[in-house]
Amino acid sequence: MPEINKKIQKYLNKILNGLIQIHILHHAKQEPIYGSWMIEELKKHGYNVSPGTVYPLLHKMEAEKLLTKKIEFIEGKRRVYYETSKQGEILLRELKDKVQELFHEIL
Ligand SMILES: [Zn+2]
Repeated sequence: MPEINKKIQKYLNKILNGLIQIHILHHAKQEPIYGSWMIEELKKHGYNVSPGTVYPLLHKMEAEKLLTKKIEFIEGKRRVYYETSKQGEILLRELKDKVQELFHEIL
């Protein structure tokens, strides 16, 4: 199989970032999530993402008020939890419909 070139890889990553954000909204709606948990979850789905990808996305989504943040201390260790906000839920609902429609068409 021909190797994916750097330019295409960059383009792919941009699209995948969108899919990762949908995935984050989905899980953070079910229960509070944290960065390293999300990285593991994405691994299960075949995404090999680094903290350098996931943490900035979480920060951005929190800054955009799509996620709410709460900090907890577990055995003295600080952990930042994120939950999908009301705005995030509205966005997720919209995206779900779009994803479903698209998948129906292309798959
Ligand atoms: Zn998942």
